[in-house]
Amino acid sequence: MSMQIYNFSAGPAIMPKEVLRKAQEEMLSLQYFGRNIGMSVMEISHRSEVFTAINESAQNGLRDLLNVPQNYQILFLQGGASLQFSMIPMSFLSQDETADYIVTGAWGEKALVEAKRCGDAKAIYSSVKTGYKTVPKQSELNFTKEAKYIHYTSNETIEGVEFKYDLEAEIPVVCDASSNILSKQIDVSKYSLIYAGAQKNIGPSGITVVIIRDEFLEKSNKKQHSMLDYSKFAENKSLLNTPNTWGIYLVDLVCKWLKNIGGVSEIEKINQQKAAIIYNAIDQSNGYFKGHADIDARSLMNVTFRLPSIELENKFCNEATDLGFDGLRGHRSVGGIRASIYNAFPIEGVEKLVEFMTKFSKEN
Ligand code: PMP
Repeated sequence: MSMQIYNFSAGPAIMPKEVLRKAQEEMLSLQYFGRNIGMSVMEISHRSEVFTAINESAQNGLRDLLNVPQNYQILFLQGGASLQFSMIPMSFLSQDETADYIVTGAWGEKALVEAKRCGDAKAIYSSVKTGYKTVPKQSELNFTKEAKYIHYTSNETIEGVEFKYDLEAEIPVVCDASSNILSKQIDVSKYSLIYAGAQKNIGPSGITVVIIRDEFLEKSNKKQHSMLDYSKFAENKSLLNTPNTWGIYLVDLVCKWLKNIGGVSEIEKINQQKAAIIYNAIDQSNGYFKGHADIDARSLMNVTFRLPSIELENKFCNEATDLGFDGLRGHRSVGGIRASIYNAFPIEGVEKLVEFMTKFSKEN
């Protein structure tokens, strides 16, 4: 027996055990339509009847879990969330046009850099000077009237800061929800486009989910190369070319797993409990542990904190690894500790971490 590992990785991240077991069972022979297909899902055509059904089921699963209205398309793309940093401005922004960006962390900053290649993209809010600890209140934001869209990152994975509300604007709202999609209820109807790399709450890496409103889709640049054209993906139900079939199959299993445990409203409650356990430990440590994010911007998915010195942080990470806590080292660009506790992360892992934090702070 291998030792129990608690996987705190930021992404690729922990998958539900039930999903991995089901995939293992079906690895050599997929079971679908109540029969053994006799081949792995990786071995069948993406145009086959079976895969067509899996693709539709995965899309419907997301639609169902997130209450996505019928006037939105759900697309599976490749190139990661990072390709969306480019594909969005390439589709909706030209040289003489403006787009607004809200920059609350490293990923939002990267998105802005790409958008500037296409047009006049500018940060109307940036918390870079204060070390990305905050998110703005809706009332603090002034959008540019003629902006083609407003872009924000609902959860900044590296710094662990999260918006607690769905942004509202007269102009189209575009959101990078890579690290908090499916973790809590959102009102999709407020957004024109939501995108997310799958490798945190949706499935394995290699798939990007895009949820796009029809009306916004119609505005996209139609002179785009086919593989960068949202409309072409929508017309072809994401089967424009050979997709990541294995990944889409896993997305379908993750959706079924989440639905089975009560859907997004249920997991949201569990996520709040899990995050509260760690934040309470931080707040009750008499300043030994210091949370990075401002209290009202604390992420439910990525809990970031510091210890009194870098030496102690290294010692903490090394001892944690020996005890089976994996992936706690903060992102290489910021250091510190980051506990990523996505949907599939079990509550007992959080309790065990807090036991270790308490013990460590007493001994050191
Ligand atoms: N946005 C956010 C919020 C992320 O957390 C990440 C990856 N961790 C990305 C974008 C980039 O995703 P990808 O690696 O899929 O391109």
